[in-house]
Amino acid sequence: MISDNLNAIKSIIGNNKTTLIAVSKKQPEKNIQEALDCGIRIFGENRVQEAYERWEYRKVDYPDLELHLIGPLQTNKVKSAVELFDVIQTLDREKLAREIVKHRSDMPCFIQVNTGEEDQKAGILPHELKDFYHFCCNDLKMTIRGLMCIPPIDAPAGLHFGLLANKAKILGLKELSMGMSDDYALALQYGATHIRVGSALFGERQS
Ligand SMILES: *Cc1c(COP(=O)(O)O)cnc(C)c1O
Repeated sequence: MISDNLNAIKSIIGNNKTTLIAVSKKQPEKNIQEALDCGIRIFGENRVQEAYERWEYRKVDYPDLELHLIGPLQTNKVKSAVELFDVIQTLDREKLAREIVKHRSDMPCFIQVNTGEEDQKAGILPHELKDFYHFCCNDLKMTIRGLMCIPPIDAPAGLHFGLLANKAKILGLKELSMGMSDDYALALQYGATHIRVGSALFGERQS
């Protein structure tokens, strides 16, 4: 039951003022409705097209929905992404930043940092973050809310959460999106303000 899972997650969040983002990608419709019936309104999706199919018409019935894009964004999908999503968590390159601003100058964004410096993973490299952040703020006047990371699968996540928290502190950014089903409790200890939880809330995804 999603309500039981939700209560378990909430009890771990405890008194932290942490936002739970329910990652609804690849979940069956009945799970989405169950989550909505539990009062969940903040959802994360990693593909623009899939998110449209799931959420476009629901936005009419649930005007308080808050949708976060947590997957890589191609520049040719920016226009539709900024129309559907309330927050983009995967800003990671200049070209993408310019394109977002072109379509929605006040779009709230998190910068995704590739803390593990993995070749296959999206995100700006840690040593390029400072310049990129200043480019976004100063040159493009963007609304950068915080930083986001996805630690490497085989590394201790705490190291990456610590690195991200440290980078945010240096830049004076208050928000940190980090922690998924397996490690959100740990992420809370490192100051996560947003946790992105899928399977621990909904159960296993459909392939
Ligand atoms: C799928 C996904 C999640 C949720 O993963 P779970 O392990 O199911 O909680 C969180 N963040 C991102 C970026 C994802 O793609």
